[in-house]
Amino acid sequence: MKSIIEKDLENLSKNLYLESPDLWIEFLDKVNSGIFDELVLFFATKYNYISIIKYAIENNLIDINSKSRNKEFDTIYDHLVYVARQNNYKGFSDYLNSLKNPNKEISLNTKNDKIKSETKNKDINIPSVICQKCKSNIFEVGYIVCENKIFKFSHEENKPVETGKEDLNSVICYNCKSLIKDTTPKDLEALCNITTCINCKNDLRNSGIVDKRNLYYNKKLNKFDLGDTYYACGKCEQAISNQQKDYFKLK
Ligand SMILES: [Zn+2]
Ligand SMILES: [Zn+2]
Repeated sequence: MKSIIEKDLENLSKNLYLESPDLWIEFLDKVNSGIFDELVLFFATKYNYISIIKYAIENNLIDINSKSRNKEFDTIYDHLVYVARQNNYKGFSDYLNSLKNPNKEISLNTKNDKIKSETKNKDINIPSVICQKCKSNIFEVGYIVCENKIFKFSHEENKPVETGKEDLNSVICYNCKSLIKDTTPKDLEALCNITTCINCKNDLRNSGIVDKRNLYYNKKLNKFDLGDTYYACGKCEQAISNQQKDYFKLK
């Protein structure tokens, strides 16, 4: 009988074969030589095979804190976290998070993770606000909302007493304690609503959704090639999430 990891590698390799035979060959070469590098882990994350990530990390086959080959990310860890979040793989995000915060108890049951993500209620919009400093989703690591307490000296009590409170509209990342710019606690609540644009926070039912298409400049022919179509917020033109697409029954 094959182990879970062997089965998952086999299934992942099938996914890759369909995506690109070139990548598939590169992937097989690496895996057959026992190399679990950023490329292998990237595809394991993209196709939701958490067992492969765990296998590579737990057997010290990769140092995920080493530099990413993708210039947009500092480390391989940051790269994988980004891919997991993009796809809303909650089990992945939790696992990767637990590597940074080992004190937190987290269920690492691969089977449950898979079932959970498959039966996930499509109406739930999993919001994501990424802290610029530590690259965590503040909805996952938590955020701090501050309140100012106002004190005045009281003659009756002969000491300062609280005379009022005011909400500070700032939001602070609980993980690294840095300020999250351009957002308020109210914005964060609105984000949990599936009809809210994840960028400008307007309600998509008011701002509308536009059908857009990318055009790519083709240097050789000096013309623009037609790229993929996508749906975007009518106000800020940011692409809507897959859940929002499902919610509004857009194909
Ligand atoms: Zn942070
Ligand atoms: Zn918008």
